[in-house]
Amino acid sequence: MNSTLTLHPDRLFPSDPTIRAIAQRLYQHIKGLPIVSPHGHTDPRWFGDNTNFDNATSLLLLPDHYVFRMLYSQGISLESLGIRRRDGVVVEQDYRKIFRIFASHYYLFRGTPSRIWLDSVFHDVFGLTETLSADTADHYYDSINAQLVKPEFAPRALLDRFNIELIATTEGALNDLRHHAKLKGSGYEQRVITTFRPDDVVDADRADFAANIAKLGELTGEDTRSWPGYLAALRKRRAFFRQHGATATDHGHPTAITADLPADEAAALFQRCLAGEANPAETELFRGQMLTEMAGMSLEDGMTMQIHPGAHRNHNTIIFERFGPDKGADIPSPTEFVSNLKPLLQKYGNEAGLTIILFTLDETTYARELAPLAGHYPALKLGPAWWFHDSPEGMLRFRHQVTETAGFYNTVGFNDDTRAFLSIPARHDVARRIDCRFLASLVAEHRLTEEEAMQVAYDLTYGLVKKAYQLA
Ligand SMILES: [Zn+2]
Repeated sequence: MNSTLTLHPDRLFPSDPTIRAIAQRLYQHIKGLPIVSPHGHTDPRWFGDNTNFDNATSLLLLPDHYVFRMLYSQGISLESLGIRRRDGVVVEQDYRKIFRIFASHYYLFRGTPSRIWLDSVFHDVFGLTETLSADTADHYYDSINAQLVKPEFAPRALLDRFNIELIATTEGALNDLRHHAKLKGSGYEQRVITTFRPDDVVDADRADFAANIAKLGELTGEDTRSWPGYLAALRKRRAFFRQHGATATDHGHPTAITADLPADEAAALFQRCLAGEANPAETELFRGQMLTEMAGMSLEDGMTMQIHPGAHRNHNTIIFERFGPDKGADIPSPTEFVSNLKPLLQKYGNEAGLTIILFTLDETTYARELAPLAGHYPALKLGPAWWFHDSPEGMLRFRHQVTETAGFYNTVGFNDDTRAFLSIPARHDVARRIDCRFLASLVAEHRLTEEEAMQVAYDLTYGLVKKAYQLA
């Protein structure tokens, strides 16, 4: 039996009628504001080429590791879900069949944020009115595919429909940014910008590190076999990214370690890394030195710096070897900020002209480490609840634990951080509802006036993100 798919207007609001009424009023005030998405992983090719998406499976399932990790956890093979293998072994190609597997296991997402995002996409983007299940799988698949070929479902048209004022993608330091270049003259070049992510040229644990440094030299005309040449090359790549709209850098490191070595020691460490002679402690130290170098370059060129530490990447070695990265096998690990960030902060923490945004997967650091750090150092701000915590409960935990020490104004609004383009409006809507819910509780307890809460709700949705990421 099919059940009706409805999105309740009061979803995610408190059940207490007094607080709920305040949350409703705050939400009415901000729900229609444009979406600013300063950090994410959508494919710039979509916006550069502006060709329509193929089908429901390759749009909604294959790029979304939140979805297939849950199915995998219940014993469904990634091959049967059409996830491409590195060794070329043929995987399931029948997209309808893959969609049916997803549909018949949709109950697995009950209670997860994926369920909220997906239901919103089905209902609001595709106008579907029954819950997804084995019975409705073919109806969903046919209906979604029939809509995807329409002009109004082309990627740029969806940017307009979703009221996305700006979206940032994320590219590695060696990327030629060709898809962003295609946007020039389209009217979208100010709205789809890149982000400079240099992990591929600062992480000497990567098998391709030396090759990447050589490529960095070719791209920039600098001698990247020398420490000064390597740093000069990085400055040139940052400038190239800025020409394609970048206002920020992003650094995904295993830990938050930073270092501030004398130049001769940094140069010697670079040489050991380049020669493949560095031990794990030295490659870790080198990544830490490079965070401090990057903070210095941000002070020079004005780019906002984002640090995303603490993901134990590719935890499942068999899955990594068979399918590659980003397959839902990244697991959070404990992250220490107070000691690890100290070398960087001693050098640059007092710079009010520098913005460093910290993210964590370790919620135990919110009140103990991150809020006190951001509540003191002018250079530091706190990024929103990230990844596993980008959920109604996760966002509430974040507000509860950081606000009393860091306030609202040392935070930077919401990041959707997603590859799932169609879910972006739903993700921002969840953040807006949860912020209004949190603010409503402060108003109900007479800790804020409703007028102040309106102002904060506007800033959390729109004002702070534009300031932190320097978006005019
Ligand atoms: Zn990200």
